[in-house]
Amino acid sequence: MTDVIKPIALIDRSVISYLPHSTRRLPFEVPRHYHVPMPRSPEPSPKQSPKEPYVPIVKVSPRGATRLKAGHVWVYRSDIVSADGVPPGSLVRVTDHRGKPLGTALYSSSSQIAIRMISPEPVADFPALLRQRIADAINYREAHVRDAEAYRLVFSEADFLPGLIVDRYNDILSLQILTQAMDADPVRQAILGELTTRLHPASIIERVDPRVRELETLPPRASGLLQGEKTSTTFTMNSIHFRFDALEGQKTGAFLDQRENYAAAAQYTHGEALDVFCYQGGFALHLAPHCEHVTGVDSSRPALEVADQNAALNRSLLGSNEVGANEIEWIEANAFDLLKDYSSPARPQEARRYDTIVLDPPAFAKSKRDLDAALRGYKELNLRALKMLRPGGILVTCSCSYHVSQSDFLEMLASATLDAHRTLRLIEVRGQAKDHPVLLNVPETAYLKCVIASVS
Ligand code: SAH
Repeated sequence: MTDVIKPIALIDRSVISYLPHSTRRLPFEVPRHYHVPMPRSPEPSPKQSPKEPYVPIVKVSPRGATRLKAGHVWVYRSDIVSADGVPPGSLVRVTDHRGKPLGTALYSSSSQIAIRMISPEPVADFPALLRQRIADAINYREAHVRDAEAYRLVFSEADFLPGLIVDRYNDILSLQILTQAMDADPVRQAILGELTTRLHPASIIERVDPRVRELETLPPRASGLLQGEKTSTTFTMNSIHFRFDALEGQKTGAFLDQRENYAAAAQYTHGEALDVFCYQGGFALHLAPHCEHVTGVDSSRPALEVADQNAALNRSLLGSNEVGANEIEWIEANAFDLLKDYSSPARPQEARRYDTIVLDPPAFAKSKRDLDAALRGYKELNLRALKMLRPGGILVTCSCSYHVSQSDFLEMLASATLDAHRTLRLIEVRGQAKDHPVLLNVPETAYLKCVIASVS
């Protein structure tokens, strides 16, 4: 065993460091052509009357106009003809270079995505439109989310609220603001007002990514409570309990996009299981009732400390497991080193074998340029996992890199399978949970891949 592999004694629970930002995010930077069937504004008014508030105009180039007419929601700075004097973050009317109206957008003075369309029509009352969109997003979750007290309530472009993310963790809402427009005070007030009226949360907290604020040239701001006082709670999903500290952890606290994949994976898993990149134990805890023994691996000690607390919350559940095992072992390690050590040890007879392996690494491809290196990284992990799985074993393998398409991912997996001299039967090819909606015509909204396969 190398010295990077440290089984951890979880005693020092008070020292939990704050990890500032997510390893998963919507990849906003990739230009694509797509059509977005945007909902109409609540009270469409075809022309700006003299009584309506002044809305600045942004003119776009013929190329930008063509893209918008084809249904694109973003216009890049290089396609802006004039935006003179347009205040950062304002609501703007978009026209072609001749002045023909193309709809209403949110303007950023600094992002490469200069405008994000919010309606194909003029918008007379922006706060009313925001409230309607938030109400629609909540209704969508009420219709489609089951067995969960934690899920994403608002998913930016996918809910026609570009730049806004809201996650619900039981009675606490966690909010992220990613653009100048969503940061404006009246906009924040409308968002908080609608969330409060509809959901009556104990508190609303804001998670700030300093890098995003810098890119949007917004003044620095600390993460913290926007409303209420409660900063921690517990939540249940798929009958498994988790703790939530609103101002700790990665992302807004949990990887909610995997919620349905946890339940799917649990149906097939058995025997000895290894959850690699386990974070706070999402997969490991779902697997434990079905497996003899589960080992979770992550390089983040604070994440493993929460994982251990989560295991304690579920002790009665795990204790009732007929199969037996129930204690989950957490290992703090670099996953690449650990998998190398476990699959190809110096003494071959010490090679580890498992019946179930989960691989859920952070995004390896943050941009298109990283694609080849990312695929090499995924292949190494999958090759090692395939070597370690017993016949009949289950591989649950994920990628949250938008730039790695589903076909790239399956091709990588096929190649790893060949190199490992194994056979893989696909049981399920899955994506992100339904509370992270995918807009069919917005490829950027589909980013998570999760393959469940049987190995022989
Ligand atoms: N499966 C988790 C989410 C994993 S996110 C869940 O469902 O909740 C990716 C995780 O990989 C993070 O917890 C991060 O701490 C961890 N990580 C990143 N690089 C790592 C490395 N080289 N070795 C081990 N863990 C790593």
